[in-house]
This record gives sequence, C-alpha cells and structure tokens, in this order.
Amino acid sequence: MHSQDYINREDKFGAHNYHPLPVVLERGEGAFVWDVEGKRYFDFLSAYSAVNQGHCHPKIIEALTEQAKKLTLTSRAFYNNVLGEFEEYITKYFGYDKVLPMNSGAEADETALKLCRRWGYDVKKIPENKAKIIVCENNFHGRTITIISMSTDPDSYKGFGPYTPGFVVVPYNDIDALEKELQDPNVAGFLVEPIQGEAGVYVPEDGYLKKAYELCKKHNVLFIADEVQTGIARTGKLLAVDHENVRPDILILGKALSGGVLPVSAVLADDDIMLVIKPGEHGSTFGGNPLSAKVAIAALEVVKNENLAEKADKLGNLFRDELKKINSDMIKLVRGKGLLNAVIIEPKNGKTAWDVCLALKENGLIAKPTHEHIIRFAPPLVISEQDLKQAIEIIKKTMKEFE
Ligand code: PLP
Repeated sequence: MHSQDYINREDKFGAHNYHPLPVVLERGEGAFVWDVEGKRYFDFLSAYSAVNQGHCHPKIIEALTEQAKKLTLTSRAFYNNVLGEFEEYITKYFGYDKVLPMNSGAEADETALKLCRRWGYDVKKIPENKAKIIVCENNFHGRTITIISMSTDPDSYKGFGPYTPGFVVVPYNDIDALEKELQDPNVAGFLVEPIQGEAGVYVPEDGYLKKAYELCKKHNVLFIADEVQTGIARTGKLLAVDHENVRPDILILGKALSGGVLPVSAVLADDDIMLVIKPGEHGSTFGGNPLSAKVAIAALEVVKNENLAEKADKLGNLFRDELKKINSDMIKLVRGKGLLNAVIIEPKNGKTAWDVCLALKENGLIAKPTHEHIIRFAPPLVISEQDLKQAIEIIKKTMKEFE
C-alpha cells in the first residue's frame, strides 16, 4: 500500500472530524518521523506538544513494556502497587499535596472545573448552583460539551448546544476585564492557559499571569492553569507559569505527561482544595492505571535528566532569532516562548499557511496550520542544535520558493 491508499481507507471508514496533512507516518525516533514510503521528516508539531521527550524515547518505552508484562489495569476499585509511587513522585515533582490522575487533557480540565465548583460551594459558600468560572476569549481546553460551552470559537461550539451554564468570558491578557468580573462574589475560579496554544501561540504580556493570580487571591478565587500544552518544559521552564513565579491553586497537565505514549493527564492541588471531592464523586476506569503511572514517572524523569526545559529555552531563542531574519513578505510575525512558536502567514497569490505546510512537507518538515493563517512550530525538545539548524534551513528554503 502507498500513502494515498492509507489516506483513502481512513477517508472511507473514519469520521471526517480532522483534516490531516497528506502524510502517512509509520515510525518515529527522537525529533524525526518516517512515512510509509520511507521518507524522513522533522516533526515540528510533536503531536500538539505531547511528544516533548521525542518519539519512542527508549526509557519511556522500557517502562511501558516492563509494566505491560506485569499489570496494566486494576480500576480504582482496588489498590495497585504503582499508583502510589506515581502520586508521590508527581506531587513532589510539582510541589503539591495531592494529584488526581485522569487520561485526556479534556478530562483533566473537566476534573478541575468540578473541583473548583465544589470548592466554591463547600469552602467559599457560594449559594447552590450559582458558582461561576471565568475563562478567556479564544481559549482551548478540549472538546467535551462543558468545555465547548466555554469556547468562543464557532467551529468548536456551533451546532452542539444546549450549553453548560456558569462561565463568564473575558478577553485574554486583559487585567481590567478580569478585575471587573472578579467583583462578583459567586466567582469560584479563573481558568487560563499561560500561553494560548491552539488559538495560535498567543503569549500574554509579561506580568499578566502574576497580576491575574494576585487578583484571584484578593477575591478568594481559585487560579487554575491549564498547562496541558504549555507544561512539562515546552516553553523553556518546567511550567509556563514558572516564567512569572506563579503557583496555580489548581494545575492541569496532560499530553507530555506520558511523552506521547499513552493518554495520561493529571490535576494537582493542595489538600484544602483536592479533598473537597469525596469517594464516589469523580473518577475514570483508566485514570491512574499502573501502566500509565509507570510511563508518566519515566516521562517526567526524562524531562529532568535531559534538562529539557533549559534546552527548550536555549533552542527557542535560536529558532525565533533565525526565523525573524527570514526575508519573506509572507511572514508577518514570529512569536512564542521556548519551543512553542508560531509564524503568522500573510497569504500571497492565493497561497496560504496550508500551502506553506504542504511545501514544508515536500522539503522534509511537517507542521500544521492553526486558524488558517498561523503555523505552529513545536519540535520535540530532544532535537539537537545541529538538527534544529537544519530544520531552519528547510524553512528558509521553503519560504524562498514562495517569492
Ligand atoms: N487544554 C489545552 C490547553 C490543550 O491545548 C488541549 C489540546 O490541545 C487540551 C486541553 C485537550 O487535551 P486532549 O486533546 O488530550 O483532550
């Protein structure tokens, strides 16, 4: 079978809820992937920042295969000998009292919303069913009904109503708007992405997160950081909130928590918040399974042992510096932090960001447009400086082809 045959089969038997770049991958190692014809590509999406540790990292795969031979799933109806090890490891790693493990990022976000509402009722004493959570314009937190109820992107929410009530939307990066909404005593939480990834890598002004956190404290409101995409070294610090020395009341992690091996997500908080949820009130059959637990420990060890945050910081600066030097009237703006970057494309002669991505693919680098005119560049953090420089050459050469 050739690439087109695989594409045709997916098209015929799979739901059409994605529009993939026409490349069919069969193997990955580090920062590279190979298609079914054997062509090698730089992976500049990293599965939306889930593969920060690189494809098939040997340490993570070893943890996976060792545990897979012993015990994969018990459900939480019983204890297992690995979950506690993971819970101790991750809470010490990020500095929280407790963790609640889930699977996908969306589930972790849902968990945080439930935790926040329950805290609002039990601790803040908000009247029943009146709790509000402030969210940001152009947010992306996943695809469930409640999460799309917070979305301002019609592609996400249109045609899927009725929506879950209880959310207030403020513009991102706007402290005054946030402060105004915080006056409402029924506000239980403020949910924010430290950098808006899906929206197109919007980096807020320095100080925004710190001020938002302080205002939340002043109004007895939980500051909830969705670090599903920005967390785990992607932006040049372990967490993106670390750039402003903010410690969220509730921290949401996913994606790279498993190095892209399994769906593993987690919500972290201290006892005064986490213990408002009692047995039987929340859970997941697969959440906290021993296979995920071992994989997540290995994935977090790799981040520390290989200094991936420092690497992302250094290589991110190099990447943006080089991209800003490209002389192309299609490049309107380069922005990002660490190795979470985006280029804003100005369409030219009918050619758009999609066409640029197709040309990049031909030249051996895969990336994906977000919102039509933005290309996100987020390679695995294990990429070497030499390989990154090669990738930059591919981007330079590709942009020249559009002159
Ligand atoms: N939160 C953020 C910030 C994300 O970027 C994403 C996915 O892109 C999610 C949540 C949802 O994660 P998942 O696709 O694993 O449900």
